[in-house]
Amino acid sequence: MSSLKPEIIKLNSSDILRTTMNDYFLRLKIANETKTKNIAWCTSVGPVELLYSLGFEVFFPENHAAMIGASKEANKYIPTATAQGYSPDICSYLTSDIGAFLQHETPLQKSGFTSVPKPDVLVYNTNQCHEVVDWFSFYAKYFKVPLLGINTPLYVHELTSNVIKSISDQFKALVPELEKVAKQKFDLDKFRDTIKLSQEGCALWKKILETAKHKPSPINFFDSVIHMAPIVVMRGTQHAIDYYKILLAELDERIKNKVSAVPKELFRIYWDGMPIWYKLSNIAKLFSKLDSCIVTSTYSNSWIFDDLDPANPFESSALAYTKLFIVRSDDIKQNVLKEMMSDYSVDGIIYHESKTCTRNSNNRFALQNRIFKENHVPYLEINGDMNDSRCYSEEQSIIAIETFIKQLSTRK
Ligand code: SF4
Repeated sequence: MSSLKPEIIKLNSSDILRTTMNDYFLRLKIANETKTKNIAWCTSVGPVELLYSLGFEVFFPENHAAMIGASKEANKYIPTATAQGYSPDICSYLTSDIGAFLQHETPLQKSGFTSVPKPDVLVYNTNQCHEVVDWFSFYAKYFKVPLLGINTPLYVHELTSNVIKSISDQFKALVPELEKVAKQKFDLDKFRDTIKLSQEGCALWKKILETAKHKPSPINFFDSVIHMAPIVVMRGTQHAIDYYKILLAELDERIKNKVSAVPKELFRIYWDGMPIWYKLSNIAKLFSKLDSCIVTSTYSNSWIFDDLDPANPFESSALAYTKLFIVRSDDIKQNVLKEMMSDYSVDGIIYHESKTCTRNSNNRFALQNRIFKENHVPYLEINGDMNDSRCYSEEQSIIAIETFIKQLSTRK
């Protein structure tokens, strides 16, 4: 192992990312204060292109919840939601977000907001999980605004034409309802343009993540979960494209100069599941100290929608948002993971079993054993949670990770 001090090598683009995100929140703040634009709340893999094409500013409660997690304040808020009857076992994004709201606090106060921006409509897609409906229902009732959504089946094995048609019909059914809130007519050409921007942004995001196939990798998981913010909240806008061109250029430069994301890359790891937001920096430093780069994850890859097609905006949206890893059957997931292990030359896998996000914990039904039988890539399971720090033992996890990496070194 390296004797270098644990180090995080910051991407120079981070400052531009900060400006890009500040500008996004400023647009929301202006819309909220001046009421010159409508505001929609949307799930992170929801139909954002429809919303941007209809002139909404779009706010993402999951992005907000991750900010709460990263601020290490989630455990201050979760009990407030549980006191309202929300179980501590359900999504801690939901409980920390609702808890913060009930306590009249938000990390956005640092950006000049007094509260989260008031929604005119809330729009979900259950492609990721069903919790989002319960989460958004709370706010729809509170603000007395419409709750609209797309109900996608889970564990989709085959993407049959029936499945795609039913989801595409649901996308179309949103249009008249959104027109009423937006007080403007839907414009198919504008929607096509927004899909095109989304397609371009996703293609850049894909290229960015794929730079990690290089050895050494110029980017790691911890960079990607920070730099994915624009593809989550500005997908379908020029803002995301502009930022990702800058980030990609920096990564290409790093590849050219053999600059790696960690000071020394001996081991290449796949991270499965949610980030542990309140310990992100500590975990990043730990892997760096262990000469290990987390080169890929299905989490950051979730915002690559390469089936979007402006020529068939509704059908391609239905396909892209249902083809998503989290929606699929375990057999499909197994194949995707096996391919990733090979494409990214992975030496070991970390499965983060997130206590309150079952949909993003893939080691609950023996998938990890089945993959190991096929590719013999060693794996480690750690227990934790994205926001609820009571579910994570840092001491135990550090010992387990250090031991795991030591074992990997004996295989080299
Ligand atoms: S996917 Fe997981 S983290 Fe995201 S909203 Fe659903 S339960 Fe919460």
